[in-house]
Formats: sequence, C-alpha cells, structure tokens
Amino acid sequence: VSTPSYIGRFAPSPTGPLHLGSLSTALASYLDARYHKGFWRLRIDDLDTPRNVTGATDTILHCLQRFGLQWDCEVYFQSQHLQQYQQSLAKLQRQQWLYACRCSRKKLGNSLVYPGYCRQAGFPDDNTTALRLKTQDLTIEFDDALQGKVCQNLALEQGDFVLRRRDQIIAYQFAVVIDDNSQAISHVVRGADLLDSTPKQIYLQQLLGYPTPHYLHLPLIVDEHGDKLSKQTLAAPIDDSHPTATLFFLLKLLQQNPPENLLSASIQQQLNWAIAHWQPQALQKVRAIQPPIL
Ligand code: GLU
Repeated sequence: VSTPSYIGRFAPSPTGPLHLGSLSTALASYLDARYHKGFWRLRIDDLDTPRNVTGATDTILHCLQRFGLQWDCEVYFQSQHLQQYQQSLAKLQRQQWLYACRCSRKKLGNSLVYPGYCRQAGFPDDNTTALRLKTQDLTIEFDDALQGKVCQNLALEQGDFVLRRRDQIIAYQFAVVIDDNSQAISHVVRGADLLDSTPKQIYLQQLLGYPTPHYLHLPLIVDEHGDKLSKQTLAAPIDDSHPTATLFFLLKLLQQNPPENLLSASIQQQLNWAIAHWQPQALQKVRAIQPPIL
C-alpha cells in the first residue's frame, strides 16, 4: 500500500476514559481522514506522567474499536521517543533559541504572557530549571479550514514559552511538533481549545525546518457553565452499551444531519454513510458549542 497524501491523527492523553468531547474529536478526525482516503493514526500523548492513569490507554483503544474507529499503523507512544525530543532540544539550544528559567508558578501568578524575567539571566540549565524558547515580535498566520484566518504575535500575546518544564517533562507544545513531523501528519483535526497553541507550534515547525500541516479546529463541546468537558470537570465516560445510538447522536452533534433510519443501522453502516457524506463546513464556525442534551 502506498502512503496516501492525507495523514491525519487522533492524540488523546491517557488521563482517563474518552468522554463525549474527546470521542467526537476522534470521530471528526477519523471521518475527515477517511473522506480524503487518507490514513488515520493514533498517538498516545503520555509524556505528562503525573497525569497518566493506569489502564487508560487500553480503555481508550477499546472504546475507539467499539465505535469502529480503526487506526492505521501501530499506536505511537510519545514515551517511546524521549531521545528524539532531547536531540531536537539540544539542537535548538546550540542555536541559542533556548534559555534556562527558574520562575516558579507562584512568581508568575496569573500572567498570561511570560514577562521575560530569566531571558537575560544566563542561568545554567540544570535539573531544576525549565527551558524556554525565545519568541520574536512577528505575526504567525495560518488558515484554519473551519475557523478561517488566525493571526498571532507570539512575543506580544504568548511570550517565551516552555519546551521543557521544571520537572524535566517535555512540554506538550514541543512534543506535538516533533511527533506530527515524525508521523508525517498532513492534516490536524482537533478541538478549538488548541487554536491558541497552533501559532506556537507553527513557529517551532519553522525553527526546526518542518512542514506545517493543515489545521481544522472543531468547536469544543462545553457543559452548561461553558467549561470544556474534561476529566477534571468529571465529564461522564462514554457509555458504550448502545454504541449505535451514541454514534448517531455524535453525528448530529457534528451537524452531519444523519437520516433517521441510520439510527437502526450497524456501526459500520453508520460510519460508511458518515464518510460518504462528510461535510466539515456544516460545523459552526465557533470555538464552543453546548450539546442539546448530554
Ligand atoms: N493530547 C492532547 C489533548 O488531549 C491533544 C493534542 C493535539 O491534538 O494536538 O488535548
């Protein structure tokens, strides 16, 4: 089989079972990949070890299979690629893009933009420091397939950001760029909670000489308080005892307008219909939506 020109992915963190929000992200990225006759790869974002939950990976894989969302190639575990992150970090360090930072969370308080305290300090990099990437006063711009044009000045709106945390764990922003490149990802379909992260990732791609994938950021499913459904807000895990009813509901949530008779179809029939009729443009161009009934 030759490699298709579309390679998508789903990248859950193994912090608990999938909930409605994460399963709908998985479904949308799966449908987009299959509609384009592409690959759909699965990555387990397991670097943040304190947040990993034993058994969560198996639960996630099982849930995806129960809903017929079969991935291509082997599952990619971030934890098996630590050396690669270190090598890229060392490369950026040699090119003077990084500096050691001793700022504690307490010192930074609620500041959204890093004020640059440690930028000129010249602290040695050791196992108590974070490593920050120098940002520049320039605008990063991209065209999101759903949200439209997004522009961000990293220096003004984000400030120098962390690539390796003080606890020495590789930060999400850095790992995701390395991984998307290693897995040859051409299209990223994910929740709009990551829209503000994308300019940082594009900046890193440019520094590392990687191509930038296409992005589509889905409206995030929020609860009645407007909060993201997550394990922290205790969103209920997916009840997979009636997968066809759940899948039908998710297709409605994704504005795909499934015909009523699809409700009594099998999972495979539902997916075949949804792939053939996939219309991401039917999604609302908003960052968040509240489902009718949870
Ligand atoms: N692991 C991330 C999350 O669970 C997703 C990363 C991504 O899609 O880039 O939110």
